[in-house]
Amino acid sequence: MGKVNKDEILSILDGYDKENITIATLGSHTSLHILNGAKEEGFKTAIVCEEGREIPYKRFGVADEFIMVKKFEDIVTEENQEKLRNMNAIVVPHGSFVAYAGLENVEDKFNVPMFGNRDILRWEAERDLERKLLTGGKIRIPYKYDNPEDIDRAVMVKFPGARGGRGYFVASTPEEFNKKIESMKARGWIEDEDVAQAHIEEYVSGCNYCIHYFYSALDDEVELMGMDSRYESSIDGIVRIPAKDQLELDISTSYVITGNHPVVMRESLLTQVFDIGDKLVKSAAKQIAPGMNGPFCMQTLVNDDLEVIVFEISARTDGGTNTFMNGSSYTYLKYGTGMSMGRRISLEIKKALKDGGLEKIIT
Ligand code: ADP
Repeated sequence: MGKVNKDEILSILDGYDKENITIATLGSHTSLHILNGAKEEGFKTAIVCEEGREIPYKRFGVADEFIMVKKFEDIVTEENQEKLRNMNAIVVPHGSFVAYAGLENVEDKFNVPMFGNRDILRWEAERDLERKLLTGGKIRIPYKYDNPEDIDRAVMVKFPGARGGRGYFVASTPEEFNKKIESMKARGWIEDEDVAQAHIEEYVSGCNYCIHYFYSALDDEVELMGMDSRYESSIDGIVRIPAKDQLELDISTSYVITGNHPVVMRESLLTQVFDIGDKLVKSAAKQIAPGMNGPFCMQTLVNDDLEVIVFEISARTDGGTNTFMNGSSYTYLKYGTGMSMGRRISLEIKKALKDGGLEKIIT
């Protein structure tokens, strides 16, 4: 694999007109506050936009320049990379950028300076690597079952690939597990190879908090930026009908994210929140140098023993940051009003441009 060379990126950055930096991203996911925040910090902004999806970006006026593409993945064509470099662009990655551009393209052929640690994106995308980051930091995660025969309590069964929880199911005995697997196979939802890769973990009965952090590599500090909880179809719709009807209807549940609610945690839990944030940053620094850099998110469930249990992480800005485009309760404490995750990223870039340290935050 011809990995993107960090020295080459730094030499591209060296050639940039530092008075005329453009913050750019792909038009999806969290691009509204990434670009809005960049403007607030005085940068020019550019959006790589798929034809037919430009309306929100035009109506909200977040982008100075539009690079229109037929499909999102065209962001990696030589021509578009050239356009971005000519704008002195620093690209801010987000979940859709990685999904649409393709992880391998981002790692191997996207020769445009990016904010964050490019190499860590694979670690959040692959379940085993993600687990290594969490266990390396001794962070509480759901217990994992290697064998369905060992199921001795409620478990959640997940399948490979980003399916938005489609087809995930809950079971409490090996018999129930087998019955549900057979019924999914009969419906054609899964194949034998999926069964072999089924991931079985403790079902955490608790409340959902997705915690958004920003690790400043310049200040070596983890900041708590905000929290959201997920609004997922069909599960959040199903709970609005009486239990009796739920049983009768035999609807299959899924966890497809459709939106987010802002939320705060009880104050006594914040010690744990900072503790797991610090631990993840330390674990990442050891395992995938230079480690975490900028936004990251831990998706957690808090049970009635008040344990914060992490079931998934993102190593870049997460969709739930859209709940605090004008600041959260937590950014209010540190910054006063108006600090979004996007703005925090641009603040970091601005600081590095002024005081030095770009090589620590650009990859
Ligand atoms: P995907 O990455 O495919 O979207 P997730 O791992 O985020 O799937 O899980 C989807 C949803 O399932 C979560 O938002 C949460 O509501 C629920 N969930 C995930 N893991 C557990 C667990 N161990 N216990 C209880 N609920 C869980």
